[in-house]
Amino acid sequence: MRRPILAANWKMHKTAAEAEEFAEKFLPLVEGARAEVVIAPPFTALERLSRALEGSAVALAAQNVNPAPLGAFTGEIAPGMLAELGCRYAIVGHSERRALYGESSAFVARKAAALLEVGIRPIVCVGETLAEHEAGRALDVVREQLTASLAEVPEGRGEEVVIAYEPVWAIGTGKTATPQAAQEAHTWIRKMLASRFGETGAKIRIQYGGSVKPDNVDALRAQPDIDGALVGGASLDPESFARLVRSEATGDSA
Ligand code: PEP
Repeated sequence: MRRPILAANWKMHKTAAEAEEFAEKFLPLVEGARAEVVIAPPFTALERLSRALEGSAVALAAQNVNPAPLGAFTGEIAPGMLAELGCRYAIVGHSERRALYGESSAFVARKAAALLEVGIRPIVCVGETLAEHEAGRALDVVREQLTASLAEVPEGRGEEVVIAYEPVWAIGTGKTATPQAAQEAHTWIRKMLASRFGETGAKIRIQYGGSVKPDNVDALRAQPDIDGALVGGASLDPESFARLVRSEATGDSA
């Protein structure tokens, strides 16, 4: 059985002090939750949040990484630096990085492989834009992104990867795919994972992302192939994110 995983992507929100304040309020609210909980703050808050999460089951994540182990890459952060800070996950291929910083799936594949080398699990994001969605190309786009982004995952390491399916038109817009449409997309993705990883494909967790909120989380998490969520806006408030973690759909409500 796949353990649900809820990940907070704070993007460029929260200082180190604000991250610490969040942890103080949030940790008591999710104690004993069945789902795995992950928080990805900005790089500058990683160290302080890492200390604040010590002794809890909540995992620390980075929002990005450079695949090189070291070198002349001004402004970049290497996988080993994240491992040293206690990161257990890192988000790669987020649509904002693909769209705003021109990141290709081939680059995402290098990041995923470099993370695995230092023992950090990649959360690999895929998803179609509104234009691609309206042109009926969602499946093809997701297949291309997934195939190329997972190209360098070594044999036998597939289960360590988490996929986040995030239709770009649903991110930060308040629009969500219906639970049925999201489940359908996750079913395709599950098939793609089976053809790439064989039996391991059934064990890989697939999160849904895109305006997941307290009022739609239960219906989404009730779908058989939705194994949790990658959450932006609704993860910034401790009570709201805790509510997403403790979904009624999985009998995990407080
Ligand atoms: C995201 O950025 O990954 C995301 C899903 O954001 P939001 O929840 O705000 O739509």
